[in-house]
Amino acid sequence: MSFASLGLIDQITRTLETLQYHTPTPVQQQAIPAVLAGRDVLAAAQTGTGKTAGFALPLLQRLVMDGEQVASNSTRALILVPTRELAEQVHQSVRDYGAGLPLRTMVAYGGVSINPQMMKLRRGVDLIVATPGRLLDLHRQNAVKFHQVRTLVLDEADRMLDLGFARELDSVLAALPRQRQTLLFSATFSDPIRALAARLLTAPVGIDA
Ligand code: AMP
Repeated sequence: MSFASLGLIDQITRTLETLQYHTPTPVQQQAIPAVLAGRDVLAAAQTGTGKTAGFALPLLQRLVMDGEQVASNSTRALILVPTRELAEQVHQSVRDYGAGLPLRTMVAYGGVSINPQMMKLRRGVDLIVATPGRLLDLHRQNAVKFHQVRTLVLDEADRMLDLGFARELDSVLAALPRQRQTLLFSATFSDPIRALAARLLTAPVGIDA
């Protein structure tokens, strides 16, 4: 099993070689083809399973292949995470995996000045990794518009609810286009997570790593 056989383009598989990723992990084997095919995904995956590459690699590829120009103060994809630490970590992974691809990405979380984040958004970005509260602040200040969003990823959705982000999350979700691809990753599956999944996902591919 190789990354190329899962459908990833040469530009990305070459990057994976430099990162010394030789074989896709089980979650990657399941998630990459599903995401490339445009399917919604519901994944039970713990940290350490390679879940970040599982959603980020095919998402980056779709953004490149789609080739849509992003408008100013707009974005084409959102990765929502529960904490600033995870936001930094996921964004670093996105940068590593997307090395050399013609995409603009950014990270946004609270507890730091909002102005540099607003400046970055002016030209538009293809992908934002964000915590829900700060993303909502940016949206309320018209620094980011959601009409071009085609893909939403919820990473560590259980922690997002545990940390009390349900309302912020709902406000973001209400502002997103209904026609989109949604990927939900969670380590655990409580009733609220199941309800969220039922509300957000259409005929999802189920992944258990
Ligand atoms: P994650 O579960 O996404 O936090 O990833 C866990 C760790 O595994 C990270 O340090 C990744 O760089 C690494 N990793 C992810 N996928 C692979 C792979 N296919 N081969 C080798 N290392 C990987």
